[in-house]
Amino acid sequence: MALAENLEKIQQRINAACERAGRQPETVTLQAVSKGQLPAAIREASKLGLTLFGENKVQEAKAKIGQCPANLRWHMIGHLQSNKCRDAVHFFQMIQSVDSLALAQEIDKWADKSAKTMPILLEVNIAGESSKFGYRPDQLLSELLQINALHKIEIHGLMTIAPWTPEPEKVRPIFQKLRLLKEECEKILGAPLPHLSMGMSGDFEIAIEEGATIVRIGTALFGPRARATKDTRETKQNGEV
Ligand SMILES: *Cc1c(COP(=O)(O)O)cnc(C)c1O
Repeated sequence: MALAENLEKIQQRINAACERAGRQPETVTLQAVSKGQLPAAIREASKLGLTLFGENKVQEAKAKIGQCPANLRWHMIGHLQSNKCRDAVHFFQMIQSVDSLALAQEIDKWADKSAKTMPILLEVNIAGESSKFGYRPDQLLSELLQINALHKIEIHGLMTIAPWTPEPEKVRPIFQKLRLLKEECEKILGAPLPHLSMGMSGDFEIAIEEGATIVRIGTALFGPRARATKDTRETKQNGEV
């Protein structure tokens, strides 16, 4: 089965990257990015031991989650609109793509209504690509305390999507910058932030070497996505509208 072989290879590459970086493999969580994949593929991945999945559209996740084993955990990794926050809070265990105070406030509101606390990551557009969502680092630092003051939100760390490149070594500085920014946030908050969600199929080994705790892997695991969601690196052109 291709999925089992792909997973085996990815795990070996994760282990090797951890070894190069002097890290324990248990400190890196492989998140299976299942956007554009059918529930059957997700159930298959679950049988192989994967438990953390990522979706980039609330509607798609809503339709699929009920058809998958109940023990799986789901994170929202795509751009979230305020009118989808209610469902996002209901269906996801974490929202990795928070990129404004207004969005954080909306999530906080719905978490409060459902008597939940919502773990979030703050998404940062480190490279400043106009095609991508995410905070500018200076904006993030200026809003951080206000987000942290929201009672029903817990900031667990930062997330980024590196620019696409055929040479992953080129995006190493992006991952380094996210790590340094997390350290700055920790100083401001006076508390540690456990997560750096960075690295995808093309660049996860570099991300691990630079401190990733969550790598979000889609195509290297499942193979190419169905046409409708092909090439959905989370951009303004093809993100959720
Ligand atoms: C699609 C997507 C991924 C996975 O991309 P692959 O290149 O298929 O591994 C990771 N993160 C986000 C935010 C995505 O939208």
